[in-house]
Amino acid sequence: MLARFVLIGSGLAGGLLAAYLGRRGYDVDLYERRADPREGNIVAGRSINLALSTRGIHALQQLGIADKVLHHAIPMRGRMIHPAGIASGPIFAPYDVDPNKHINSIGRAALNTVVIEAAQRYPNVRVHFNHQCANVELDSATAQLLDTSDAEAAANPKLIEARGDAVIGVDGAFSAVRQSMHKKIKGFEYDESYLAHGYKELTIPPGPDGSWRMEKNALHIWPRKSFMMIALPNPDGSFTCTLFWEFEAPRSFATTKSDDDVRRFFDQEFPDAVPLMPTLLDDFRQNPTGSLVTIRCAPWFYKDKVALVGDAAHAVVPFYGQGMNAAFEDCVVLDECLAEFPDNREHAFAEYFRKRKENADALADLALGNFIEMRDKTASRAFRAKKKLDHLLEATLPGIYLPLYTMVTFTRIPYAEAARRARRQDQIVYTTLLAIMLIAALLLFRFITH
Ligand SMILES: Cc1cc2nc3c(=O)[nH]c(=O)nc-3n(C[C@H](O)[C@H](O)[C@H](O)COP(=O)(O)OP(=O)(O)OC[C@H]3O[C@@H](n4cnc5c(N)ncnc54)[C@H](O)[C@@H]3O)c2cc1C
Repeated sequence: MLARFVLIGSGLAGGLLAAYLGRRGYDVDLYERRADPREGNIVAGRSINLALSTRGIHALQQLGIADKVLHHAIPMRGRMIHPAGIASGPIFAPYDVDPNKHINSIGRAALNTVVIEAAQRYPNVRVHFNHQCANVELDSATAQLLDTSDAEAAANPKLIEARGDAVIGVDGAFSAVRQSMHKKIKGFEYDESYLAHGYKELTIPPGPDGSWRMEKNALHIWPRKSFMMIALPNPDGSFTCTLFWEFEAPRSFATTKSDDDVRRFFDQEFPDAVPLMPTLLDDFRQNPTGSLVTIRCAPWFYKDKVALVGDAAHAVVPFYGQGMNAAFEDCVVLDECLAEFPDNREHAFAEYFRKRKENADALADLALGNFIEMRDKTASRAFRAKKKLDHLLEATLPGIYLPLYTMVTFTRIPYAEAARRARRQDQIVYTTLLAIMLIAALLLFRFITH
């Protein structure tokens, strides 16, 4: 008989993993602390939309649901950079030399619904909303859950137990499953580090005719050196803006409290966006300020009993637009490992961890590095010149030279390998450029002195 899996968390990766396991014929019980997303359980002001790219699309394709998801998505072909000061208009920088390569803005709620429905296609998958995991007994693969699923239980939550052959924690960055592993496993490695910046979501509503009030097919960025705002389009004509700003600094979330302070800050920094944001002050006051955490831990499994997937194993900051894409890639790899070692689940978990850990660590570093690129470098001419050089080299050396962004976003080259290859490419390009400049200088010198 095939094993029974207890999954904790039906966010983006939880629903997808349940569908993968369901397809293999496993018995799956998926427990989620919130209500059904089809009843609107998405917390306002918490990354309403996300950039979906090649790795995530591949994972959806394996289950035949990519088209359904992309039907709700808006292609973004490049960055629309809004420089400081209203005098200069926005500048478009394509993501790739190939204009067909784009990332996709997708609503979290729509995506969550599609993956949960994909899981529910399988009669062997059961989804239980309003069940919060409090603890996992690792050796018996038993999750203890607070059940608030009906009115009586909501008033007086019941503690229930769900026992499987294995428990998988797909319960996000603050995973209860990981906490149970941390308590139980001797030598469990754990590191969490918070950025000095938080984020707040704001809205640009649609125009009166329901159209987009800025370029629709772009990811908009207002780079301001130590902070930035971005905006992603939604299908209803609106944009979700996210301000990434220091929590504590002379000018920061901490010091910008009154409506006048907020208005003054936005007028100074984002003058072209302010007229498009009629609900700015309400949004700023009402929406929470989220924190940005990187979590690294090891191992991601305990015997054949427990494993971690997605943010529960490796939360990263959002600046490469890859957290969800990486979480989806985890599901593909775990599914492949379980298929490769059907009679040895511990081996399958160990192999999954071996294949993914190095890549998750590489992504964490890339994501941190890209924050500096987005908030500071995108505004500079040197950065845009480097991007043009990247695209020129990619076009003249197809298949040989691939810019880092292209490898991360438009291929499934493992993150760690992409990072190594980009470092090697940069060394070669910069050494060659230096050599060309030296030869040119030498020739000029000889020409002048003869
Ligand atoms: C501002 C921001 C922007 C982002 N933009 C992008 C982007 O553009 N592209 C991208 O790829 N990634 C992006 N990400 C990252 C992405 O959101 C995460 O990587 C992704 O959601 C991880 O999926 P997950 O299923 O592992 O976790 P989650 O989506 O967080 O899901 C975890 C689920 O577990 C449930 N849960 C938690 N605790 C319990 C418990 N104790 N019991 C039961 N259920 C529980 C939660 O309610 C939730 O439903 C962004 C993140 C942020 C913060």
